[in-house]
Amino acid sequence: MSDVDLVVAGAGGGLAGALRAAQLGARVLVVEANEHYLRGNNTSMSTAMIPGAGSRWQRAAGIEDSPEKFLGDIAAKTHGDFAEPVAEALAGMSAELVEWLGDHVGLPIELPTDFDYPGHSAQRVHSIPGRHGSRLLHHLADAVAQESLIDTLIPGRVAAARRTEEDLLVTVSYPDGREEEISTGALLLATNGYGANRELVTEHLPEIADAEYHGSEYSTGDALRIGADFGAAASYLDAYQGHAGLSAEARTLVTWTVVMHGGFVVTADGRRFGDESTGYSEYAAVLAGQPGASGWLIYDERIHSATMAFGDYVDVVNSGAVRHGESVAELADSIGVPVEALAAELVEASAVARGDESRDRFGRTRFEQPLSGPLYAVRILPALFHTQGGLVVDRHARVLDANSDPIPGLYASGGAAVGISGHGAAGYLAGNGLLPALGLAYLAATHSAAEFPRSER
Ligand SMILES: Cc1cc2nc3c(=O)[nH]c(=O)nc-3n(C[C@H](O)[C@H](O)[C@H](O)COP(=O)(O)OP(=O)(O)OC[C@H]3O[C@@H](n4cnc5c(N)ncnc54)[C@H](O)[C@@H]3O)c2cc1C
Repeated sequence: MSDVDLVVAGAGGGLAGALRAAQLGARVLVVEANEHYLRGNNTSMSTAMIPGAGSRWQRAAGIEDSPEKFLGDIAAKTHGDFAEPVAEALAGMSAELVEWLGDHVGLPIELPTDFDYPGHSAQRVHSIPGRHGSRLLHHLADAVAQESLIDTLIPGRVAAARRTEEDLLVTVSYPDGREEEISTGALLLATNGYGANRELVTEHLPEIADAEYHGSEYSTGDALRIGADFGAAASYLDAYQGHAGLSAEARTLVTWTVVMHGGFVVTADGRRFGDESTGYSEYAAVLAGQPGASGWLIYDERIHSATMAFGDYVDVVNSGAVRHGESVAELADSIGVPVEALAAELVEASAVARGDESRDRFGRTRFEQPLSGPLYAVRILPALFHTQGGLVVDRHARVLDANSDPIPGLYASGGAAVGISGHGAAGYLAGNGLLPALGLAYLAATHSAAEFPRSER
């Protein structure tokens, strides 16, 4: 008999897989390389936004939604070029996932309805109070600690794996150089993508390679390497989530709700340079292409108050990175941009907000309200958050080989697996990070528990 039924490599979204497998009676071992993972991995850095199409929170809010509608949004955002079986599986189970996170894991799930995310045709992005991934991860880790069927090895790195006739042998390496082999029925690679691997980023993501990397230092592409040893296929490696709204001073996310509420971005000349409402991910490369590769996010007191619901924004405010001005002239002076240019941008945006014009010169049609009263600005940088391509998986999160056959016992989730964002940065919809991280881990656990009943239950 194997040492365990399932090894989960990576304690980010992978913890959902560990909890699901234990719920189904499997003996689980979580191996995590980073001792400080609770504040160092991507899940902990996220805004804890998790899509669920057709959830009970949506029904209570009178929001009509369905997996088909969600799949349609994914298809539209990626122009039809995406990993369809994976997207279909995730859209189909997304409501079950958020309800399970609430009911089984005990997350205080809520459905923010105070803003719309670009590309989602229904309000379906669920979160938790504080809207921060560190709280999400703490909840998951606390639930893992209470589960007697789950053991953890932290810090320990899954360095390699190989198949024997009986099962899989996973090599775990420790910081002191020791190594140990653990036998398991299945291995879930939940080690995220390759954002911290400069060589791979330069090869696959040249348009964002010079921008700041704002993700986990442990995302070095281990799943790609381990998967390759099994003959696994990889796809959509050019896909990534960028973000145009990283505070230059606080090095924290300002959040794009500022834009969705009617804010806009100017460069040092006080002028806008595109349609910010297309999405924060693709706007990162647009901002990276501007002189100085930075900009100012401009908004007002109403937007400032609304954005205080986000823990990240509160951190930006507390860092002193936010500038104020009672008038356009005062704000322009405070951030050092020409007042005439900034005033002209406010006039154009207000005309669209009031409905006097249907669109601005870049095609942007939506500014929630004219900016008024005290004005605010934060200096922003473009950033690479995480990569979206990875090991090809099927609807059970099984890793596939070059012939599209499942590799027995091998699963992948989150940034380790192929995502649902198509190519480049433009296919990224809010929630496309956490849904594959939590959802594929959940699907892998469900499948492996049924396929590999190694222990007596
Ligand atoms: C600032 C920021 C905000 C974001 N906001 C959102 C959001 O609101 N909604 C959304 O959907 N997505 C968001 N994302 C993306 C989302 O956070 C990620 O897509 C998701 O968390 C990835 O989960 P994961 O399990 O793949 O990776 P991680 O959470 O990074 O977990 C992987 C773990 O594996 C460990 N590891 C790596 N290699 C090994 C190894 N060989 N052996 C053992 N352990 C290893 C790492 O230390 C890490 O703890 C955001 C990302 C960032 C950076």
